[in-house]
Amino acid sequence: MTTRKHLDWAKANPAKVGDPRPCVDCGRPALLRDPDTGKPRHKTCAEKAL
Ligand SMILES: [Zn+2]
Repeated sequence: MTTRKHLDWAKANPAKVGDPRPCVDCGRPALLRDPDTGKPRHKTCAEKAL
């Protein structure tokens, strides 16, 4: 398994966009949904968690 610095939510694993919801990581409103969990999450927050 390779280590990736950036998630590619736009191409390989598209993230859905919805109404602003508190990000599971930082708590601030996030439009993106984590493609893996379906929960609101900023792309930048998900990348930090890698
Ligand atoms: Zn966040």
